[in-house]
Amino acid sequence: MDYDVIIIGGGVIGCCIARTLSKFDLNIALLEKEADIASGTTKANSGVVHAGFASPREYIKRDMCIAGNKLYTQAVEELNFPFQRIGSFVVALEDNQINKLEEQRKQGTQDGVAGLEVILDKARIKHMEPNLTEEVVGVLHAPSAGIVSPYEMTYALAENAAMNGVKFFRNQRVRKIKHQNYTYTIKTKEKEFKANNVINAAGVYGAKISKMVGLDYFSIMPRKGEYMLFDRNAMHLNKILFPTPTQVSKGILVCPTVSGNTFVGPNAQNISDKKDIATTAAGLKEILEGGTKLVPNLPLRAAIRNFAGLRAVPDTYDFIIDNTDVYGFINVVGILSPGLTSCYAIAERVVDFLELLGVNTKVKEDYNPKRPKPEKFKDFSKKELDDKIKEDPAWGRIICRCETIPEKEILNAIHSPVGANTLDGIKFRCRPGMGRCQGGFCRPRLIEILSRELNIPYEEVVKMGEDTNFLVAKTKEIVLHKLKGDVEE
Ligand SMILES: Cc1cc2nc3c(=O)[nH]c(=O)nc-3n(C[C@H](O)[C@H](O)[C@H](O)COP(=O)(O)OP(=O)(O)OC[C@H]3O[C@@H](n4cnc5c(N)ncnc54)[C@H](O)[C@@H]3O)c2cc1C
Repeated sequence: MDYDVIIIGGGVIGCCIARTLSKFDLNIALLEKEADIASGTTKANSGVVHAGFASPREYIKRDMCIAGNKLYTQAVEELNFPFQRIGSFVVALEDNQINKLEEQRKQGTQDGVAGLEVILDKARIKHMEPNLTEEVVGVLHAPSAGIVSPYEMTYALAENAAMNGVKFFRNQRVRKIKHQNYTYTIKTKEKEFKANNVINAAGVYGAKISKMVGLDYFSIMPRKGEYMLFDRNAMHLNKILFPTPTQVSKGILVCPTVSGNTFVGPNAQNISDKKDIATTAAGLKEILEGGTKLVPNLPLRAAIRNFAGLRAVPDTYDFIIDNTDVYGFINVVGILSPGLTSCYAIAERVVDFLELLGVNTKVKEDYNPKRPKPEKFKDFSKKELDDKIKEDPAWGRIICRCETIPEKEILNAIHSPVGANTLDGIKFRCRPGMGRCQGGFCRPRLIEILSRELNIPYEEVVKMGEDTNFLVAKTKEIVLHKLKGDVEE
């Protein structure tokens, strides 16, 4: 089949574009190299929906962020993903930082960021966020800032796009693109796809894809950010806490998540290896030092996980959203922070480009913007739960004890549109393995369930893609092979 549009990359940007375009009468496909969508930068970031005053005024990422923040209200209503507009503080610890906060307030307000206020009354600040250090001298309060689950939002976008006809192809690494007679032929290891228009949303690999059509006008450097995550309910923060920014970074923040965890991070380290997401002792020390300046009593004993994500930093330091000279090829790359916040505005800009290319952007009659809220054990009353368990006993079989996740939620995650096909896919969709034991208890059960539901042997169940299987063979089979000399000691 020839597609009108093919999107390369299933991160938040690719999936948001897919969902936005799914309202038009178009044949659309999305190709993702990993076993699942939301496996790149989208999986590991701060999950902050920024108010939009932080980027310099000359950058388009500032406009995209301010517009994108506002578009979240409608998106949440339609797509039912976890989002809370809790507001942020930029914290001044020295008197000479107040000027910077005032400048950000003034410019942000002029540019349309609602509700910005510099607060100098320490009692009021401490009432709004009791965990904040006694050293605080003032804060810039941005009530429109929020927190979101970046991967749950991306799954919601993909599900809704699929409901409206977009085809998702995972495990499809784009290797080659040929452009001839206004048609693109895109080659992966086993498949060939044809399209009239291509959107490059390949994150840190964006320059590589762009070069495949001869466009070599930018480079992308990975910049690592490390985090430490604390257990749910170890601390309750009311606000997202940023330090006063420096020239190079928004700094190390202390922040709640939509699931009730708290984290500290990220730092910012330029690296060369686009696969390096390892955390380091030095990095963790750096983020703890930064975080404790804002919140001295971080719950260190409740640390449950360290992780890192890679920013796709372009040489322009700004988003690259280009209707390029190669007809029908659109670059949407270098989407560093605040890309998550900006995704809905970015997708609208892509629609403008497609209109210029003459693509049909008439909304189809049967477009359904609603994605139903995934049912959750924790949201039910006792009576509702009893009824649910009578209807389907899988609601009563708890698989993850730390997060109280029943088998039914896992089955729903596997069988949703663009459903989970790996253990991480289940974990990020409905949280088994996200709790204190980090999967020690539930992993064997999850392997069983995924094997049964996808009808694959245990050995083929993977954590996140090729060569990440937990099991290699049955113990007795290995012994027998050893006896026969098939397996080396
Ligand atoms: C440490 C950190 C903190 C951040 N905090 C925030 C924040 O608080 N708020 C905010 O707004 N933004 C934040 N961001 C930025 C935000 O996370 C990114 O802007 C966003 O996730 C980028 O999404 P993406 O879809 O462009 O990239 P990705 O999520 O990386 O998606 C690109 C996809 O393309 C796929 N791909 C690559 N090559 C190929 C190929 N050859 N064939 C097929 N598929 C391919 C990849 O596998 C990947 O899934 C942060 C980023 C980092 C790293």
